[in-house]
Amino acid sequence: MRLPEAGTIWMDGTLVPWAEARVHVLSHALHYGTAVLEGTNVYETPEGPAVFRLDDHLARLYRSAKIISLAVPYGYHELRAATLRTVAANGLRSCYIRHLVHRGYGEMGISARNCPVSVSIAAWEWGAYLDDGVRLMTSSWRRNDPAVVPTLAKATGPYLNSVLAKAEALDAGFDEAVLLNAAGHVSECTGANLFMISDGVLVTPPDSAGALAGITQDTVERLAFDLGLPTRRRDILRAELYTAEEVFLCGTAAGIVPVASVDHREIDPEGPVTAKLKHAYDAAVHGHDPRHRDWLTLVG
Ligand code: PMP
Repeated sequence: MRLPEAGTIWMDGTLVPWAEARVHVLSHALHYGTAVLEGTNVYETPEGPAVFRLDDHLARLYRSAKIISLAVPYGYHELRAATLRTVAANGLRSCYIRHLVHRGYGEMGISARNCPVSVSIAAWEWGAYLDDGVRLMTSSWRRNDPAVVPTLAKATGPYLNSVLAKAEALDAGFDEAVLLNAAGHVSECTGANLFMISDGVLVTPPDSAGALAGITQDTVERLAFDLGLPTRRRDILRAELYTAEEVFLCGTAAGIVPVASVDHREIDPEGPVTAKLKHAYDAAVHGHDPRHRDWLTLVG
């Protein structure tokens, strides 16, 4: 995905021109992965552009920062207002928002506790990055182990694991990788959570499997509740995916994406449960489901 070269990015309190949103090459985060991030979407709704589950994304950003001991130098309401301001200033009606909190320039060394912490917010149009009917490959890389890095924090350093798995899958001619944890259970994909439908039940791995606590994953479970579909969080064996009735990925940037095969075992990408959930998700994000109006924050 190419980034736009115009627009403004919020950096530590100021909206700066896109090309000037730079950091120093000796920034701590660049060397040691000490940053946390969020990806949030804005959708068109009948009331105007609205951010989907903004408070949940911001809450996760602060939780991620706390886990890796980054003191966010801005209060919640300040960052919330800055997020809406960034989207509005760029005149975007539907877009992706990237928050980044990183340890910056000032000191070198692993601890570098005196490095300043910087916050930036960028927004741009980002279309679907995975087409329906994804072909998954089980990665030879295991998912980050929660005993090695805190997988509940959406931190940049651990994304190297995703980058390696994604490259391996693309090089092998697949669309996306599914990562197993150290115990051999399914964890998640490189930038999305995973569900399978097995005996009519929607099953997704628990956070303890090394997966990110996905906001779309939570949204899917709530929509499933509305639809009367049973859900369960439990460990999933690799081979269970091969015989599942349906499999789909879900994430902010991805949306809900049906899977067409796992390690060349075919799965119906047009299954009825995935289709129902996709429809419900579309309705919720676009403001057509009054039960979930509180998930939307108008850009204003
Ligand atoms: N897992 C990983 C590794 C991710 O990068 C993402 C995208 N943020 C997700 C899961 C899905 O999370 P969410 O639904 O909150 O976007």
